Amino acid sequence: MTATRVLVLNSGSSSVKYQLLDMRGGARLAVGLVERIGEETSRLVHTPLLGDAGGKRERTAPIADHAAALKAVAEELAADGLGLDSPRLAAIGHRVVHGGLRFTEPTVIDEEVLAEVERLVPLAPLHNPANITGIRTAQALRPDLPQVAVFDTAFHTTMPESAARYAIDTETADRHLIRRYGFHGTSHAYVARETARLLGKDPEDVNVIVLHLGNGASASAVAGGRCVDTSMGLTPLEGLVMGTRSGDIDPAVTFHLMRVAGMSTDDIDVLLNKKSGLVGLCGDNDMREIRRRIDAGDERAQLAFDIYIHRLKKYIGAYYAVLGRVDAIAFTAGVGENAAPVREAAVSGLEELGLALDSGLNAERSDGARLVSTPYARVAVAVVPTDEELEIARQTFALVSENALG
Ligand code: ADP
Repeated sequence: MTATRVLVLNSGSSSVKYQLLDMRGGARLAVGLVERIGEETSRLVHTPLLGDAGGKRERTAPIADHAAALKAVAEELAADGLGLDSPRLAAIGHRVVHGGLRFTEPTVIDEEVLAEVERLVPLAPLHNPANITGIRTAQALRPDLPQVAVFDTAFHTTMPESAARYAIDTETADRHLIRRYGFHGTSHAYVARETARLLGKDPEDVNVIVLHLGNGASASAVAGGRCVDTSMGLTPLEGLVMGTRSGDIDPAVTFHLMRVAGMSTDDIDVLLNKKSGLVGLCGDNDMREIRRRIDAGDERAQLAFDIYIHRLKKYIGAYYAVLGRVDAIAFTAGVGENAAPVREAAVSGLEELGLALDSGLNAERSDGARLVSTPYARVAVAVVPTDEELEIARQTFALVSENALG
């Protein structure tokens, strides 16, 4: 029996998202989420997607830790005949947020790799420890199975030094590993490739600006399939205005807040990461709610929207200049895929750059990848639903298949 299934795990500090995929065709067999791990109100939501498997199932008993969470997931999968002990399972693919400079590719996990991911914890203090816990838990469950790490930063490791370095003292930067790493790389890689496919071209022949606009948001400039610049930096705080993050600000704002407002480092960290962006500007970070308020004449919501769009436009212009020639701009993630007014505002007035939307196509709702530009526009505007789990599964399966072939 050939092993063609891949379990994808995205482990957070108190949650685990998972998907089981069959790589013969890429069909999803089951998806689910365990949340509030370690709390009384833990919840597991499991949805089998096989023909006659029935609908969504929910468990609400407390789940103490990641080991208990994965055990519960394994039980749910087994109940659908998809047990993790099945010989059909080829590998487990883990999302790992920070791979530093070392991990430029998906990597089979061993103790040495785990130690390196651990060494990178200071660069991703919230994410890497949770990812490591997820990996150790999965290893305990299936010690014989290849486990693969797919890094959020890997796609951006092709950035030239001119884009990756900050203009600060080189020795200080190198000593403390301070440089621009970028995040959401799995999504940017997937969307850039799917955009080329949508245009009927080879990814190597296409230059794309990818706008990943979710609650977190980042832009990337992709030249012939390789990332040459991205908006997130040392941490995911840099760049676009996000749901709760400020994106770019003058770094002196932090010294000013320390000196004048007496705020601590932690206070400022929370301010810029959790209480800024759209939520800081208008009290809401959900673009649907912001649009409702704008339609009702709310000026604060309008200003928040305008600031969000202004920054987005600046990045489109900047990446246009970085790439020299742009074939497509691709919108993805929750806002990018669903918020037609954001897409419209972001490219309006950019006709001189070859950008023109077909407002009818832009307003249409669809789950598929599609073009929303006018046929005569020089630069295509695409809406491409991202699929990080499928990308992680593909990269994981490609690596273990390659290794199996020797
Ligand atoms: P995350 O960064 O958490 O993965 P997502 O990519 O799921 O985020 O995006 C979540 C955001 O997408 C929400 O906060 C909301 O602003 C936006 N969003 C989701 N659906 C819609 C919609 N139909 N219209 C406008 N915005 C939407």
